[in-house]
Amino acid sequence: MGATPTETGRRQALLRALPSIDELLLHAQVAPLVASSARSLVVEACRNAVQAARERILKGDEAAFDVGAVAAELSTLVQPSLRRVINATGVVLHTNLGRAPLSARAVDRVAEIARGYCNLELDLDEGERGSRYSHVVELICRMTGAEDALVVNNCAAATLLTLGALAQGREVIVSRGELVEIGGGFRVPDVMRQSGCALVEVGTTNRTRVGDYEAALTPQTGLLLKVHRSNFAVVGFTEEASTAELAELGRTRGVPVFEDLGSGALLPLHSEGLTSEPTVRSIIEAGADVVAFSGDKLLGGPQAGIVCGSRDVISKLSKHPLNRALRIDKLTVAALEATLEAYRDGAADSEVPTRAMLTTPLATLEARARLLSKALGPIPHRVVQTISKVGGGSMPLAEPPSFAVAVAGPAIALHEVLRQGTPAIVARITDDELWFDVRCLTEADCHVVATRVAAVRGAP
Ligand SMILES: *Cc1c(COP(=O)(O)O)cnc(C)c1O
Repeated sequence: MGATPTETGRRQALLRALPSIDELLLHAQVAPLVASSARSLVVEACRNAVQAARERILKGDEAAFDVGAVAAELSTLVQPSLRRVINATGVVLHTNLGRAPLSARAVDRVAEIARGYCNLELDLDEGERGSRYSHVVELICRMTGAEDALVVNNCAAATLLTLGALAQGREVIVSRGELVEIGGGFRVPDVMRQSGCALVEVGTTNRTRVGDYEAALTPQTGLLLKVHRSNFAVVGFTEEASTAELAELGRTRGVPVFEDLGSGALLPLHSEGLTSEPTVRSIIEAGADVVAFSGDKLLGGPQAGIVCGSRDVISKLSKHPLNRALRIDKLTVAALEATLEAYRDGAADSEVPTRAMLTTPLATLEARARLLSKALGPIPHRVVQTISKVGGGSMPLAEPPSFAVAVAGPAIALHEVLRQGTPAIVARITDDELWFDVRCLTEADCHVVATRVAAVRGAP
């Protein structure tokens, strides 16, 4: 394609001048790399650097080979795949970004427990075998009012286990308005089938009454299921049976009631723009026999599925073979115990990042946005009001007001560089501006964002 004979000649000269891998390995800037990395990795980095240079030359780039490219290739090769991201999207429980960040107390506890041995399944008082769940059960019961609890890998697993243990081979009654998909292909009817339960749908999409459940009860009924609408809302002409009504029906007919609560707020969350979310305690008090919720949604702890309820139900769940397959590891136990301690100590809103971020006063957010704005200096941008999101399939209608800094475009190119750098920065593009919602940023994050934007757009 259109290269003149002189250009072709220059390209061939440049290609011939590319160093061999053996030469490169002896270069003063490359040889020391072998001391700190495996030789095979350095060889791979040399190959990648030379190959990249070859491709550039063939495209018409006439720059000479830069030996510094080897170190750059090597650092790309050895950088961890899972790495830190600065979340400037304003979505607090961002599933793609790992949902809930842990509190300092939880992080320290995980580090301490991970480093050595621990009494995961050893009762230190008696010197006998203990239960891994014992470390968190009391705290869960204290915060929810439940008699007993169990923790599995996530809330999806908790639902699977509860259905399997309580209603395998039997009928489960659920409202047509609650046959939801949680995300990632987790759909209530499929989970039901997987658990060996027969789904009995009652009511309509928008209206279901307790009488609909009552009419569907048969000797085959194993469970009344209520699924909290955590990731969508039904508005308008609607009606649903309350947990209390279902509990009353279940009690008189001897059928347990299970509520899949999903988000699982342990305490009410009061802040501008947040909608109300039932607490786990309110559902237990309303009479549900068993409640399942996530550890890493509104609770703000590690990924986990917490099931709490009557002693009788939890005992059935713990004996089910699935429980062993879904069990949590010691790191989850450590993080969950430390997170729950903050709730016990009345420090959840200040200590648990999810709660702190969701309840940050608007004035604080504005001050943070001004700080970021100041750090950006002459780079074209403006401070704007915006709306954050709770995310993680929680409070779909909540519109917590927030502040963002909108950096002038071109936004896609800037976002790409920031996303691929270290630490990665993920923001939101609106009308070719890159919006940095400051809700999930620390002051230190703001300075990192400003420095990195300046590096792309020219230092202030
Ligand atoms: C989020 C959610 C789940 C799944 O929770 P994971 O912890 O992500 O497995 C299940 N049920 C409801 C109602 C949810 O909102």
